[in-house]
Amino acid sequence: MQTTEFIWFNGKFVPWDDAKVHVLTHALHYASGTFEGLRFYQTDDGSSAIFRLVEHVDRLLYSAQALHMALPYSKQQICDAIVETVARNNITSGYLRPLVFYGYQKMGVNPIGNPVDMIIACWPWGAYHAAEELDVKVSQYIRLHPKSTVIDAKLSANYINCILPLLEIQGTHYHEVLLLDHDHYVSEGSSVNFFMVKNGVIYTPTLSNVLPGITRDFILILAKKLGYQVLETQITLAEVYAADEAFFSGTAGEITPIRSLDDKLINGGGAGPISLKLKAAYQDVVHGRDKTFSSYLTYVKLENQQHL
Ligand code: PMP
Repeated sequence: MQTTEFIWFNGKFVPWDDAKVHVLTHALHYASGTFEGLRFYQTDDGSSAIFRLVEHVDRLLYSAQALHMALPYSKQQICDAIVETVARNNITSGYLRPLVFYGYQKMGVNPIGNPVDMIIACWPWGAYHAAEELDVKVSQYIRLHPKSTVIDAKLSANYINCILPLLEIQGTHYHEVLLLDHDHYVSEGSSVNFFMVKNGVIYTPTLSNVLPGITRDFILILAKKLGYQVLETQITLAEVYAADEAFFSGTAGEITPIRSLDDKLINGGGAGPISLKLKAAYQDVVHGRDKTFSSYLTYVKLENQQHL
C-alpha cells in the first residue's frame, strides 16, 4: 500500500512506521474495534475536501457506543483530528481510516478494563474494485442476523461476514459478492450497498439488514434530485436477475455498475444509463463541481498550501 508520513495515534501525530500496538491488544484477538472509511478528493480549485465528514464521525460514535467504549474525545475533536490528519500528510486525495479499539491491558473476551485506543490514518487510494463493471456471485454465506450483532454499526467483528464471502470467490473470475439475508432477500456486497433499476425506478434494500451506508443515503438524495423515483424495499434474487441495471455503492467503491450476477448478464453486460448518470453526478459532488451539495464537503487546508 502507499503510505503517508504521519498517523494520528491517541491524540498525537507519530511517524507512519511507529504507529504500533502490543500483540496482546484485545482487538487483535477478538475484533473488538470499530472503524470508518472516508474519502477526500481534490476539488477543482486545487483544494482538498472530505466527503460527509460529520456523518462518518456520527456513525463511528454510534458504533463505539455499541461496544460500550468511553471515548475520551468529543465529536468536534474527532472531526478536527481527521481534518488535521489530511492536512499534516499533505495529500490532496485519498482515503481516511479512523479506528477505535480495545487495547492492551487484560485478556479475556470481556473488553472492559482495556484502554480505548484510537488511530486515524490516511493514504492515497485509487479505485477500490478490480474492474469498472463487476462480475458478482451470490455468496453461500448469508448476511449476519440482525439479532446476532449490532447490524447497523460498523464493527470490526462484523467484517468476518465480508471476509469469508470474499475468500469464497478468491481466484475465480468474480470481482464481488452479493449476500442475501436470513429471509432470502438481497442484502449487500462485501463492503458496498446494493441498488437496482427496473423500468426507470431505482430500488435498494431497506435498512433492516444492511450497513446504513453514507453513500447509499446520499444516492437516495441525489437520485431524487435528478428526478428519479427511489424505493427502499425488500428485493428478491429473481428481481435482480430481471433488473435493467444494478450497481454497488460505498465510500471506497464509490458507484460501480454490476455487469453480471451468477454469470447472468445485466443490461446485456454493460453499465446502464441511470447507473452511469448517478456515477457522474456523484463524482461532480465529491470533486466540488456541483455547488448544490457543497455543504457535504469539508475543505482541508493542506500544510504545503498555507503560503500559496
Ligand atoms: N456495507 C458494508 C458492509 C460496508 O462495509 C460499507 C463500507 N463502509 C458499506 C456497506 C458502504 O457504506 P458507506 O457508503 O458508508 O461507505
